[in-house]
Amino acid sequence: MLEFRQVYKAYTTPQGPLEVLRGVDLTLEAGQSLALMGESGSGKSTLLHLAAGLDLPDSGEVRLGSQAISTLGEPERARLRRERLGLVFQQFHLVPSLSVIDNLRLQARLAGVEKSAWSSELIERLGLAGLEGRYPEQLSGGQQQRLAIGRALAPRPSLLLADEPTGNLDEGSADAILALLLELVRDTGCALLMVTHSPRIAAPLDRRLVLSHARLTSSQQAAQEATS
Ligand code: ATP
Ligand code: MG
Repeated sequence: MLEFRQVYKAYTTPQGPLEVLRGVDLTLEAGQSLALMGESGSGKSTLLHLAAGLDLPDSGEVRLGSQAISTLGEPERARLRRERLGLVFQQFHLVPSLSVIDNLRLQARLAGVEKSAWSSELIERLGLAGLEGRYPEQLSGGQQQRLAIGRALAPRPSLLLADEPTGNLDEGSADAILALLLELVRDTGCALLMVTHSPRIAAPLDRRLVLSHARLTSSQQAAQEATS
């Protein structure tokens, strides 16, 4: 589904090049969920941006299904993003001038799927029934994040990329959002790559990996290295 092959990424900074990913290999199978952990500044968002084709590796390859997205131009990557990927961020990035239902429909339409029945089912499952006509600013933080998750899933993507989706929420709302996310991912057969700082949020996912010193390790390895 998603594959990183020997991915290198460095940023140019006034202090010189900053190596963020150094030969990262990663495979995420269809339907699997993976938590990506690591300290602030370890490169989690960078990895997610590469997975989404929002940025390109310096070397190595990022593959989405049968396509090497890291070799495509921006128009093709943008099309793949619209049709195959769902993106959720810590900031919700809702369209403020569109109502709840139109935020969902817009995303489905952009992907070329006209699934109004699915939009209505989503509203129900997101716990936003009765709020279809409201605008994002009229929703609570938790409701906005539920809508953002629904919007990402509206086109029925094969991969959902989520960067700290519960980072702006209190513990109770975060747990509820996570449960909803995992339920929707399971029911749609979508793969999930989720960035989180929190071991508690990472626990229910199928796998956990940690970015540290520009490399990806299993969370057990990371714990052993920290204590040795
Ligand atoms: P956080 O948990 O705080 O969100 P992160 O693990 O997501 O951190 P990244 O945002 O991927 O970390 O950043 C990795 C490193 O690269 C950081 O040191 C950051 O300052 C640096 N960085 C990120 N984007 C750029 C950029 N466009 N130009 C230069 N440096 C960058
Ligand atoms: Mg980040």
